Amino acid sequence: MLDLDKLKTALPTQSWTQDPDIIAPHLTEWRDKYQGHTPLMLTPRNTAEVALAVKICAQHNIKIMPQGGNTGLVGGQTPMGEVLLSTRKMNKLRDLNAVNNSMIVEAGATLQSIHRAADTIERKFPLFLASQGSCTIGGNLSTNAGGNHVLKYGTTKDLVFGVEAVLASGEIYNGLTSLRKDNTGYDLSRLFLGAEGTLGIITAASLKLFPKPGYIQRAIVGVDNPTSAMALLGHCRAGDALSMFEVIPHIGFEAVVNNMPNQRDPFASPHPWYVLIDWDVETEELGAKLAQAKLANAVETGIIRDAVIAQNETQAAQILSIRENMSAGQKFLGGSIKFDITVPLQTIPEFIKTAGKKVETLIPGCRPVSFGHFGDGNIHYNIAQPYGMDKEKFLGKWQTVSEVIFDTVDAFGGSISAEHGIGTMKKEDLVRRADPVKLAMLKTIKVALDPQNIMNPRVMI
Ligand SMILES: Cc1cc2nc3c(=O)[nH]c(=O)nc-3n(C[C@H](O)[C@H](O)[C@H](O)COP(=O)(O)OP(=O)(O)OC[C@H]3O[C@@H](n4cnc5c(N)ncnc54)[C@H](O)[C@@H]3O)c2cc1C
Repeated sequence: MLDLDKLKTALPTQSWTQDPDIIAPHLTEWRDKYQGHTPLMLTPRNTAEVALAVKICAQHNIKIMPQGGNTGLVGGQTPMGEVLLSTRKMNKLRDLNAVNNSMIVEAGATLQSIHRAADTIERKFPLFLASQGSCTIGGNLSTNAGGNHVLKYGTTKDLVFGVEAVLASGEIYNGLTSLRKDNTGYDLSRLFLGAEGTLGIITAASLKLFPKPGYIQRAIVGVDNPTSAMALLGHCRAGDALSMFEVIPHIGFEAVVNNMPNQRDPFASPHPWYVLIDWDVETEELGAKLAQAKLANAVETGIIRDAVIAQNETQAAQILSIRENMSAGQKFLGGSIKFDITVPLQTIPEFIKTAGKKVETLIPGCRPVSFGHFGDGNIHYNIAQPYGMDKEKFLGKWQTVSEVIFDTVDAFGGSISAEHGIGTMKKEDLVRRADPVKLAMLKTIKVALDPQNIMNPRVMI
């Protein structure tokens, strides 16, 4: 019997497929950068089926790649011959606890379904990404996703008590605690956070919930440059109310409002840069007062050019929608070379200036679109192709541009991956740039937990 047949025989017929039409959407990804192939897609319905499948893979040295919502941006979920294991059928809510502010949910649940479940008990799971309708909590944990509210709530790593995971041996690690205190050795659940499926398959997670703010006050502001945006960040902090601080340059803003459906420019005249701000407050009245006081003062002192304060939920949604459409909107600018980097917060304006000069020297006429989570020091440093340049020729320069951007990131004491992970895209960069001691520790952990290298073998290290 062929090795794959052993998997097919052991699992129920509903838990695997070789139908090319069903598999096809799992082989392409958001950026159209990778096109994968797989001999078999497993679609387990519970942890026991995942464990059985992985045990057989271990016995026969079959390589396996986990996939959640397939919204990853670094090629970590596109199989190139590995067996693909989709977690999407594993989406049950196992526990919802208003007393402990916690929830236990299976790995294939979408982030949006988790928001809805938390909502039913007047709680908030504060991870918000534009991909939340599709991405899964297993993928969020495995990439340690960030999103729009990190400056108040932290990354996914900060939002979890523990995980259940199937190890490369097929054994089940049960770390599904909801204890707020547990000092019994290494925090093993954390090994799986940001591991991108290289150490095992997360099958469920115990998540932290937070009180729902009474009101979220949103505003959009026009500023002259990133230096003003940084000054505004300091100005807008008010206790711990500030929960979002996202920045968009005019080129990106225009690409969205001019091209994406149902968009409108909230300003009467254009601004060089835009900042989207949320404050979590108790009441609508407090939100309006806080926003008016902060922003009126910022206009008077010349930090900002203009501001629009959302007057209702519809306006608030319209403002956020501009940010959420940034990835899609950039497609109208032609080819894009993209980086997800982080630098020390206060150095963002200098980084943008320095990197801008360097890429202009490399590709005259190219158009940087530096946007994103400035409140966390995280820039999606994207570069749109020059007008009239051949798209493929431009994209062919990705590696050369990478070297320059990553050298600059290193010089600023930053990180080459802020929130998207390493995947296959940045694997070589990690190997070349990481501290050798860190690299050796990563490899030691990988070999200890996956000695045959069957778990997502081409990813990260
Ligand atoms: C429009 C758009 C906006 C985005 N915005 C953000 C953003 O603001 N912040 C941010 O951080 N990311 C963002 N992303 C990236 C992406 O949504 C996140 O990385 C997300 O966490 C991936 O979840 P997923 O379920 O789609 O994972 P997938 O893409 O399926 O997989 C991602 C990685 O996790 C592994 N994996 C998936 N599930 C499991 C599991 N159960 N166990 C072990 N390994 C697993 C995969 O093998 C792969 O390496 C965005 C993506 C898009 C398309």
